[in-house]
Amino acid sequence: MRGGPLLNGRANATGALTEMTSNTAKFRPATRLVHGGVQRSQHGETSEAIFLTSGFVYDNAEQAEATFTGAVQHYQYSRFGNPTVAMLEQRLAEIEGADVCCATATGMAAVNAALLSHLKCGDRMVASRALFGSCHWIVSTLLPRYGIATEFVDGGDLDQWRAALSRPANLVLLETPSNPMLEMVDLRAVSDLAHAAGAIVVVDNVFATPLLQQPLTFGADVVVYSCTKHIDGQGRVLGGAVLGGEKWMNEVLRPFIRNTGPTLSAFNAWLLLKGMETLALRVDAASRAAAAIADFLAIQPGVSRVWYPTRADHPQHDLAVAQMSAGGTLVTFEVAGGKAGAFAVMNGFGLIAISNNLGDSKSLATHPATTTHMRIGEDERARLGITDGVIRLSVGLEDVEDLKEDLAGALSKLRA
Ligand SMILES: *Cc1c(COP(=O)(O)O)cnc(C)c1O
Repeated sequence: MRGGPLLNGRANATGALTEMTSNTAKFRPATRLVHGGVQRSQHGETSEAIFLTSGFVYDNAEQAEATFTGAVQHYQYSRFGNPTVAMLEQRLAEIEGADVCCATATGMAAVNAALLSHLKCGDRMVASRALFGSCHWIVSTLLPRYGIATEFVDGGDLDQWRAALSRPANLVLLETPSNPMLEMVDLRAVSDLAHAAGAIVVVDNVFATPLLQQPLTFGADVVVYSCTKHIDGQGRVLGGAVLGGEKWMNEVLRPFIRNTGPTLSAFNAWLLLKGMETLALRVDAASRAAAAIADFLAIQPGVSRVWYPTRADHPQHDLAVAQMSAGGTLVTFEVAGGKAGAFAVMNGFGLIAISNNLGDSKSLATHPATTTHMRIGEDERARLGITDGVIRLSVGLEDVEDLKEDLAGALSKLRA
């Protein structure tokens, strides 16, 4: 696995990158997370090189001309392609089982590019109501300015999807499991309905990670990530990615990315490559800890309810175990006493930090009603089940017994 010469794998995903794909295709995911996409320079470095360069030089004018006509593969400009970014894109594509990946500067840049590259004035979208806050803003505030209308449905209710998709549509956007209530959407059923209505399906797969759920295998067309979350996983950098089939990615998404420039920096791509090397270890450990914590919380006094996708009491447990190989790193629970109760518990944490971020090696707790979901208003929160007592916990890599002790200590404040 020496990797081929450093060619422009982005503009033209043939040649060297195809060879590399076949080199790592026989390996299992944990191996591909370490070796996928590696392109070594002439120096034979062990760790992926960081190509912090905005531009590239040509041997002669003829080579520059041939690069621009597409006759030869050569990097042109880092907004179009960069060797370090290309390594990340190839590794992510292999893990997702997608033809092509385009990395972006943030998760929101990925969502925005997927929507705006595909939609035009007069188009119609259908989206699950439980969307990440900024996704909700794009759909409900930005897109209507360009004449793109959206019908929202309760993601777990197939009848609502069926009704909304009984009319022609252009794009379906959904998150599963959703933030913060961990509601599941039936990817296979919704993809079939969407395709019959003429729509492509874009899945925000952040909560599941590429390891626990592969939306493309259930019929989705495009997967988007905030790499800021589990893919970096150590709270260092922002990043995003769009993955999909060769035709859509190269003809629809790539021209939008190349010309509008939500490009990922080579340095951040390198950190994400390093994050991917440990992704399987981290997600597996945090997901096992989260499942144990969900079971622990369910029997604590003061906890009125726990949501965790693979727990038997999750309302969509059967769908969760059919779609996901494990429940993920997030646990949502409701404490007694509403906002005052939730604040007492949050302020009672010693080890667990208060943050609106997630997917970090450090465990982080969020009170959605007063932070991430403050702006959507009380009625919409009630509709989504986000009560004032709800706390979202992103489980990190600490010893699970220390986390349980911290939770028990914080919950004891409810009785103080
Ligand atoms: C964080 C997040 C995003 C946005 O990603 P950024 O990297 O912060 O831009 C989108 N969707 C979900 C589900 C997220 O958790």
